[in-house]
Amino acid sequence: MTKFKTLDDLGDIAGKVALVRVDLNLPMRDGAVTDDTRVRASAPTILELAGKGAKVLLLAHFGRPKGERVSTMSVSMTLDALQAVLGEEVMFVPEVAGPVVEQAVGILQAGDIALLENTRFWKGEEANDPAFAKAIAANAELYVNDAFSAAHRAHASTEALAHLLPAYAGRAMEAELTALDKALGNPATPVAAVVGGAKVSSKLDVLTHLVTKVDHLIIGGGMANTFLAARGVNVGKSLCEHELAATCEQILDAADAAGCTVHLPYDVVVAKEFAANPPSLRTCNVHEVAADEMILDVGPQATEALADVLKTCRTLVWNGPLGAFEIAPFDTATVALARSAAALTAEGALVSVAGGGDTVAALNHAGVADSFSYVSTAGGAFLEWMEGKELPGVTALER
Ligand code: ADP
Ligand code: MG
Repeated sequence: MTKFKTLDDLGDIAGKVALVRVDLNLPMRDGAVTDDTRVRASAPTILELAGKGAKVLLLAHFGRPKGERVSTMSVSMTLDALQAVLGEEVMFVPEVAGPVVEQAVGILQAGDIALLENTRFWKGEEANDPAFAKAIAANAELYVNDAFSAAHRAHASTEALAHLLPAYAGRAMEAELTALDKALGNPATPVAAVVGGAKVSSKLDVLTHLVTKVDHLIIGGGMANTFLAARGVNVGKSLCEHELAATCEQILDAADAAGCTVHLPYDVVVAKEFAANPPSLRTCNVHEVAADEMILDVGPQATEALADVLKTCRTLVWNGPLGAFEIAPFDTATVALARSAAALTAEGALVSVAGGGDTVAALNHAGVADSFSYVSTAGGAFLEWMEGKELPGVTALER
């Protein structure tokens, strides 16, 4: 496991100023926060630092103001949600550096919390400008990064700052990195990966990386259609990227060379229209799909076989639903396999880690998100991790 400092390594920080990078890029409707999951994720870190007597300065981005002050993208829009979750008063400071922040720090008492303005109001943020980072660091004594979801970007608040102040991973960051390490860094073997979703093209790098890392690669969703077509199966009207046939062959060859078994469905659920319980719904062998049919889910026999594969594994990493899970009954395979994974996890037989926007929605729909070992809500950063890419925000913590 790679090394980074955590809050356990903090000495006495009473009265010290801590810059804490959090994720406050919250979904909003009509000026109100609709989901405070990200705030709840960072609350333990913020409260722990405040509890230890630090003056906590929260740093975050909000929307895409592209280096300009845009009043509708002030991070102060999240202030009510932040105070509600923390149960503490939070002072808003409409700058990230300079005398206004310095004054605020003078007013804050040990254990107080302040929210600095949207880092992306300044061009130096996305440019990872050392001078901008230096100006932010000037008002603080330590830096804590608790925003794994922003760690795939080398920005001033996620990367440069970590080089300028003693840097620590917050509790949410620590939990995420520990879980990801258990899934692909130093996993118990055999390891299975489920990769589903709509398109092969959006997950090429994920597939290429995983075949070298896992023992079983389970391919579902629309991307399975592209692999089946590459293998000469007639997939009818299914979502399929026929132009990627050669790429699929390369991935299958690489899997073969690496000793990774690739699982493609052999029975499928098809329909002539994408609608809930359509009259044309039927289950068939992959070789029996008619020209006017679409494959919309993995079939029941293949799903059962996949559950048996999971029973032989110790670790599972999952990104992407097996079918068009938003509409019944095309959620069936995803729900069934997710429940199998959850049951194995509950027995202590499997470490299960999942991530991805639709994947999280699908696991919630299956009622098992809490039964997985870890579910990442990090989106882009989770996918880049699955691609085996270095995450600059994490690397900067690991120096
Ligand atoms: P994530 O957000 O978890 O990374 P993706 O965005 O890659 O997942 O994929 C989710 C989408 O894939 C869903 O909208 C789902 O309907 C779609 N999908 C899955 N299987 C199929 C299929 N057989 N045909 C068409 N779309 C599918
Ligand atoms: Mg998605």
